This record gives sequence, structure tokens and C-alpha cells, in this order.
Amino acid sequence: MFSRILVANRGEIALRVIRACRDMGIEAIAVYSQADRDAPYLQLAHDAVCIGPAAAAASYLNPAAIMSAAEITDVEAIHPGYGFLAENSTFAQMCREAKIEFIGPTVEAMDLLGNKVAARQLAKKARVPTVPGSDGAVEDEEAALEIAAKIGYPIMIKASAGGGGRGIRPVHNKAALLSSFRNARAEADAAFKDGTLYMEKLIERPRHVEVQLLGDTRGNVVHLWERDCSLQRRNQKLLEESPSPHITPRTRRKLCAAAVRLAKVAGYHSAGTIEFLVDEKENFYFMELNARIQVEHPVTELVTGLDLVQWQIRIAAGETLNIRQDAIKQRGVAMECRINAESPEHNFRPSPGRIESFVLPGGPGVRVDTHAHAGYMVSPYYDSMIAKLLVHRPTREETIAVLRRALAEFQIGPIPTTIPLHEQILSHPDFVRGDVDTGFIERSLNIAKRTAK
Ligand code: ADP
Ligand code: ADP
Ligand code: MG
Repeated sequence: MFSRILVANRGEIALRVIRACRDMGIEAIAVYSQADRDAPYLQLAHDAVCIGPAAAAASYLNPAAIMSAAEITDVEAIHPGYGFLAENSTFAQMCREAKIEFIGPTVEAMDLLGNKVAARQLAKKARVPTVPGSDGAVEDEEAALEIAAKIGYPIMIKASAGGGGRGIRPVHNKAALLSSFRNARAEADAAFKDGTLYMEKLIERPRHVEVQLLGDTRGNVVHLWERDCSLQRRNQKLLEESPSPHITPRTRRKLCAAAVRLAKVAGYHSAGTIEFLVDEKENFYFMELNARIQVEHPVTELVTGLDLVQWQIRIAAGETLNIRQDAIKQRGVAMECRINAESPEHNFRPSPGRIESFVLPGGPGVRVDTHAHAGYMVSPYYDSMIAKLLVHRPTREETIAVLRRALAEFQIGPIPTTIPLHEQILSHPDFVRGDVDTGFIERSLNIAKRTAK
């Protein structure tokens, strides 16, 4: 096992990884930008290294700064968390050259899966259904018109290098195609420095259901069942749960088996997630493989009792995945609310500023993953997520009741957050019945509708 790991991230996921290290008796080395220099979680690390100014491009996204911190502190491995460099294969290659273990899949698997056009082809090879669409990249506007006519409207234009819901545009008719194509390309160029686009049929009223996987370096792969992430705004997740309330046991089995098949064909190891869209008839279609730990991984930890971050570390250290598939059970129901420093009343604009009061919820079945505290300054430089509130109870009904109570207990002030939005979701009859799709929030919640225009 490693004796020292560098945590190349910030915020709640940096804290999550530091905790896993401490639980395993491993020394964690934290890194921080000048904006994060007072973060209390840095005190929990064995040591902390400043890697540059607040702007992410100069610190958390700067491979050279992180590699030199790793070399100075003589770590054996780097955990990248999610976002930032987690899916950057050039960074993983730098680790390989420096003989530092990158806690994630191989450089080759990352290259293959980071490109969604290539990943779709791989899915076909593994006999996993994909959304009908372009066979490869869509080169130009002329090709876009031609392919869209063949697929049939409505369609979705998507960025091959995409992530975080960016570079995606729905198109309902020919008249809107060209401007959407240009906008998607500009957004993808700016966000990912890669304007490659492809097209898919737009699946109407879909559910987003994803399968959590763990694979080791010897080719063993198991699934940890599914999470339902249909509660989204602008293609970004807000609330996740497991098990999915929408699918039958038969669909669940087929979905999980398809995910394992694809991971094996991809030669995938570490933790990973395969995302699918599920239509009203329970047909499912591969969307992408996220080659990293995900924001919502604690949902799966609660229902399976397995520690995903510890397993990532063990697998990177060369341990065999000695868990039998049939020993992995879904127990009870877990849900996660992402608490963002955003104002739902003002079109979800970020609301950075100082948190004056911060009172955490608690009680049976409640877990909060957060790096925030009273006196914490929410920085405008980074992602607006400040806490993840999770509840795990035997039934969905109880989970919803406890989550509503916990949201009422959770006091964050004076900055606006997404807590009132979650309260609306959890008291909406359609959600309580388990009858939602990815358009639910923008279609059915006043707080989101009012400002959607
Ligand atoms: P998850 O399924 O883990 O929730 P998200 O799509 O919400 O995935 O992204 C998790 C984090 O990673 C967010 O902070 C998001 O902005 C960031 N992220 C995801 N993909 C990319 C990418 N390709 N480039 C930059 N940031 C990304
Ligand atoms: P990202 O890498 O940004 O996470 P995804 O391919 O995972 O991109 O898509 C993000 C979200 O966009 C999905 O969860 C879903 O809500 C929506 N979406 C993507 N493709 C389609 C599609 N073909 N039809 C309908 N919705 C889609
Ligand atoms: Mg996705």
C-alpha cells in the first residue's frame, strides 16, 4: 500500500480523499491555491503545498505546479478527484513518466473514453445500445443538415470532448440547426479547446440512469448497481438517488450487465460510471463513460456499504478486487441533494460571498460532505457546489421525509443557496411518486420556471 498520496483537488472532494487516506493510515498531501489557503481541511492533511494563485488555470489546472508539489513531497500516487485534471490524459501521462501512480484508469483508456465519438463506437463493439445518431464527428454545417435530416428532428448536438453539461444543444427543426451548431461549437471550443461535435436523436422525456463500476488491473470488473440522476437543470445534475425508482428489476439487470461488458472491452480499471438514457419504454442507450470518481458517488456508498475512494486507492496500489458480484447488494434508498451557492430566484446565478451562519443537519441516516463552515468565503473562482446532503433510509418514503427534515435544519446564511429548490422538489407529488424525467425541474417547478425564459 502507498504510504503517501497527493490530493490534486480542492473543496469537498479534496476533504473526502484526505479522509479516506487517514482512514487507511496513508499520509495525504494537500495542495491549495492562494484563495484556499485558510481552508480548515488543509489541517487534516499531513502537509499542504501552495500551487499558485486563485485562478484555476494557474493552480488546480496547472499540471507543472502539481507535479512539482508531488516531487517535492515525494508522494507515490496522485488522486485527481473530479473536474480539474481528473480526465486529462496528458496529466496522467506526466505521472506515468515521473513514476507516480495516477489513481484512475490508464492513459490509453482515458484517451479512448474522453472522446465521446470513439466511446460510442466502442459501445457498439460491446453490443451496448447507443442513441441513434451520427457515426462519427459532424464536420461542418452542410454535413450537420444532411445528418439531421437522416436522424430526424428533434436532435441533440453534443461536444465530443464535453463534460459538465456544456456544449450540448437541443434542436427541434431545420431552421434552428445552423445557429445551434455554431453556438455549440463555440462553447465546446472555449470550454474544452476542442470544437468537435456529433449528433444524437433527442430522446423525449428520458431518465438519466448510470451504473457505478469498479475494475482492477487484472481485468476483474463488478458493478455497484445504478443511480438515477434525472433531476437536472440545463443538463446538470441536482439530486441523485439509488435505486432508480423508474426501472424494473429486469431492466436493472440488463443495464448493469451492459455496463460491465463495456468496461471489459475498454480495458477499464479504477472507479468509473457509465451513463445511460432510458426512454419511456425502458429502452436504454449508452451516453458516456465518466473515467473518474463522481460527485454523487456517496449515494452508492450508502446503499452498498462499500467505500469507493478507498477502493480506487487499493486498485491503484495493485490490489485484487476480491468482492464477488453477488455479494454486492442494494440496501434501502439513498438520495443526495447538491447544495450550490446559487440563487434559484435569479436564474441560478452564482452567489459567492461570506457564509456567516452554518448549521449542519444530523440524526439517523444523514451524511453531509462539505468543506464549508461559518466564516467560509465562497470563492467566485470555482464551482458553486458547497455541500452534498445525503440521506439513507430503508424505504424511499422515509428517505424523502428525513431529507425534508434535514433540509429544514440546514441553515446557511446570508448567501442564497439551492436549499429552497430541493424543498420544492421533495414536496412535489410527481417526484414523490417517482415520476420525473430530465425536463421535470424546468417544466414543473415554479422556482425554476419563473426564470427559465
Ligand atoms: P458528475 O456526474 O460527477 O456529477 P458532472 O458532469 O456534474 O459529473 O461534473 C463533475 C465536476 O466536474 C463538475 O465540477 C464539472 O464542472 C466538472 N467537469 C466534468 N467534466 C468536465 C470537463 N470535461 N472539463 C471540465 N470540467 C468538467
Ligand atoms: P456531459 O458530458 O456534459 O455530462 P452527457 O452526454 O452525459 O454530457 O449528457 C448530459 C445530459 O444531457 C444528460 O444527462 C441528459 O439529460 C442530456 N442529454 C444528453 N444527450 C441526450 C439525448 N440524446 N437526448 C436527450 N437528452 C440528452
Ligand atoms: Mg454526463
